[in-house]
Amino acid sequence: MDQLKLQAIGSGSDEKHSAIDPKKGLLSPEDVSLELAKELVPNALVWASLHGFVVGDKAVQRSGRIPGVGLVHAPFSLLPMPFPEVCWRQVCDLAPLFNELVDQVSMDGEFLQESLSRTRRADDFTGRLLDIHSKIMQDNIKQEIRLGLHRSDYMLDTETGAVLQIELNTISSSFAGLGSLVSQLHRYLISHCGEHLSLDSKRVPENTAAKKYAEALAQAWKEFNDLSSIVLVVVQPEERNMYDQHWICMLLKESYGVSTVRKTLAEIDAEGEISSDGSLHIGQQVVAVVYFRAGYTPIDYPSEAEWRARLMLERSSAIKCPSISYHLAGSKKIQQELAKPNVLERFVSNESDVLKLRKCFAGLWSLHNNADIIEEAITRPEAFVLKPQREGGGNNIYGKDVKETLLELQRNGGDGLAAYILMQRIFPPTHTSYLVRDGIFQQNKTVSELGIFGAYLRNKDNVLINNQSGYLMRTKISSSDEGGVAAGFAVLDSVYLT
Ligand code: ADP
Ligand code: MG
Repeated sequence: MDQLKLQAIGSGSDEKHSAIDPKKGLLSPEDVSLELAKELVPNALVWASLHGFVVGDKAVQRSGRIPGVGLVHAPFSLLPMPFPEVCWRQVCDLAPLFNELVDQVSMDGEFLQESLSRTRRADDFTGRLLDIHSKIMQDNIKQEIRLGLHRSDYMLDTETGAVLQIELNTISSSFAGLGSLVSQLHRYLISHCGEHLSLDSKRVPENTAAKKYAEALAQAWKEFNDLSSIVLVVVQPEERNMYDQHWICMLLKESYGVSTVRKTLAEIDAEGEISSDGSLHIGQQVVAVVYFRAGYTPIDYPSEAEWRARLMLERSSAIKCPSISYHLAGSKKIQQELAKPNVLERFVSNESDVLKLRKCFAGLWSLHNNADIIEEAITRPEAFVLKPQREGGGNNIYGKDVKETLLELQRNGGDGLAAYILMQRIFPPTHTSYLVRDGIFQQNKTVSELGIFGAYLRNKDNVLINNQSGYLMRTKISSSDEGGVAAGFAVLDSVYLT
């Protein structure tokens, strides 16, 4: 007999029954009792399995390489996270502004090079990316068709009630696929399961992230104007989050007839070439769009082969999502530079747009010539996060490590400090949620981070797409500093508007 590992860990007593109004049902998704959770979890797990809400299981060796092998449901929060509707609207409205901002910043090669010049001395990875960027500028390679698939992440700041940006992802923004599904799952549970669960499923905003991302890729492919061309998805050799990617690729095929080919950077180095007219070929196929779901971390470049591949992609006439300029525009250093007085104004002409963008900026500081802020962070390390130029989770420094790292960097002298930026630590409100992983659910005190997907497509002066494409809530145990789902810190969640 199949035995589903289903048990509650440390879920405490069943006291929450009192929160159910016998006439109206639950007052908030937070009020779920242990009893009700036990009833909902198996329904959720079945739904997840039947609807492709899955990732590769790390317990199964081949699950990151062979589709269909070793699938497990994606980790999720049993019910959506309450989130104020005013803040929701605010961040949705910001998506087109950030899309446009990235595009404007990407066009200013000197600003990118200059802002990152100190960072490159302290960080080889940033240095290598900047080298590619310089070569592209030297060769005067212009990217006329520009495609951005971004995700801007936010947290609510308990002290001020403001919603503040954590970071802007311009490369490999993940979970458009699974994020769309978790919203569907929550709507399903609210509409169809649990006798007492009379929440309003319409308060879970519709999530079209996967559809909109596929649409943007398809439209870019169309602009490239070669019916036989393909979309090249740059992937890591092992990817347990492959189904999130496959969702987008499947929609691309089903809705638009566009084929995708998945290759690692090493494979692209071996199999790719640029023909005399500048077009990129993988074997016999012409590539219209290069969609990066790898290439954002030094781990993706274990040898010179991968760097050669990145440069080749960049030099080709294929549409890069993202281009090296978009990639750099999304770096943490640039986020910090844009937060300096009068910098945003260089890229955004509309004053009210400047104000809207600035409103979501947290405190951000460069460590260069900034002894005062370093001193303050050493005195009150718990109020700051120290961030290197890395993506993908697990790299930031918190708490007393902030102090120790700063002291050490000061002792060592040189450019070491330039590898980091300092950020105000945001303390989001805590909630009580059931988190479900590997068929096991657990009640936890949690905090959440809301990601808003944005798509942007431009051909010369024509902006063809500039939208908010969908969203992703990630929820983690409140005692955990980091937030990545793939890195194992957080679960996928959606929004319940309050
Ligand atoms: P990465 O590129 O690795 O995703 P992030 O800047 O998004 O880097 O940081 C990773 C995680 O660390 C976030 O998802 C969030 O949970 C936490 N975090 C980052 N910055 C802050 C901050 N200023 N305050 C509180 N938590 C933060
Ligand atoms: Mg992040």
